Amino acid sequence: MRGTPQTFQALVVGGGLVGKAAALALTQIGMRVALLAQPAHPLPPGARFDSRVYAFSSSSQTFLERLRVWQAIDASKIGPVYDMRVYGDANAELHFSAFQAAVPQLAWIVESNVVEHALDTALRFQPQLNWLDARAQGLEISDAHATVSLDNGETLTAGLVIGADGAQSWVRAQMGAKVERRDYQQTGVVANFRISRSHGETATQWFTGGEIVAMLPLAGPYASLVWSARTAHAQALLEMSPEALTAALADVVGDRFGTLECVTPAQGFPLALQTVDRLVAPRVALVGDAAHLIHPLAGQGMNLGLRDVASLVDTLGAKETFRDVGDPILLRRYERSRREDIQRMMAATDGLQRLFALPGPIAKGIRNAGLALVGAQPQIKRWLVSHALG
Ligand SMILES: Cc1cc2nc3c(=O)[nH]c(=O)nc-3n(C[C@H](O)[C@H](O)[C@H](O)COP(=O)(O)OP(=O)(O)OC[C@H]3O[C@@H](n4cnc5c(N)ncnc54)[C@H](O)[C@@H]3O)c2cc1C
Repeated sequence: MRGTPQTFQALVVGGGLVGKAAALALTQIGMRVALLAQPAHPLPPGARFDSRVYAFSSSSQTFLERLRVWQAIDASKIGPVYDMRVYGDANAELHFSAFQAAVPQLAWIVESNVVEHALDTALRFQPQLNWLDARAQGLEISDAHATVSLDNGETLTAGLVIGADGAQSWVRAQMGAKVERRDYQQTGVVANFRISRSHGETATQWFTGGEIVAMLPLAGPYASLVWSARTAHAQALLEMSPEALTAALADVVGDRFGTLECVTPAQGFPLALQTVDRLVAPRVALVGDAAHLIHPLAGQGMNLGLRDVASLVDTLGAKETFRDVGDPILLRRYERSRREDIQRMMAATDGLQRLFALPGPIAKGIRNAGLALVGAQPQIKRWLVSHALG
């Protein structure tokens, strides 16, 4: 331990987009905040794109706009999604459109590092923020505050510790939360492609042989692949040359995008469902993947995480003056406000993933009939879109 610990109202552990958004939002409501995070990494030399892209829902866009981050993103890097087409594994098709749902767009596709750089820039302007490129390695909770020791030898105290440290959350382990994890035995393989035929601002998804292939429309003549593949198949995809990966993708998508050219190295992410028995403990709150992990088939994990942050910040911002930021009553308010949204998204993504993973002709018939039925019901589709938009 070195000197007197620095004291903050909130300490955010973890600098994914969720942690950085949390730190920024908290400083913007006037709190003195410490953030443990690395700055955004530059793209590798010669690379023009980040392989990681996200579909941001309107709730995320609204929140990032409130933080004045969305406005700072280069507009030429934001790809709107006006339509979505889902193909079952026996010719069933489902079409969602922004027009039918009476919304301006269904989502936006943006590269992860583009949003992260905008967040970093905004964070550097916050006088209330102390940003440390360090990791937390010790946490003690007392009635008065939380004390966090860092791997650089420093110690900080804070009224509230926010665990935004991802699916393997260290903060969550310190608070003794119980985690249930079900491995999907799948890996999400992501890569970006130049395409010669327009994607028409349409997100397209194929359920095929128990796997899911999604092509998300990036700005310009590009699309981003998310292939939720069985672990062994994913490994094979990741080991392929760009040309072989392109050929494997063309086998699924046909000539819908014309000629494909792989423009980023493929990356893989193991997929799992993870539920946590509580989001809060004395002077601790969890947000983002630390709080919930879902299958990416609906592109909603980040959106859920940003909604956690919005809800936590609103709860803290509306606190009675006599309460301190770690007050258990406030933390329970936050936890209650998030329960339904998280449970609904977990049930929907897990249910769909199970339905399409079921082998056999009967399951195949039922799920494709289900898709066709939903496709023929504009009201159900409108309901689905409104829930997916968040
Ligand atoms: C293939 C795939 C596609 C996806 N597509 C979408 C999509 O289109 N839309 C969407 O909404 N979601 C999507 N998701 C989900 C989304 O990626 C996650 O929900 C989101 O990245 C979670 O962000 P996070 O900040 O909570 O966690 P992370 O991004 O995991 O960040 C956690 C951070 O904490 C740091 N950390 C860990 N331990 C410590 C410690 N002790 N001290 C300090 N720092 C620490 C880590 O280094 C890391 O930087 C997708 C997921 C996958 C796998």
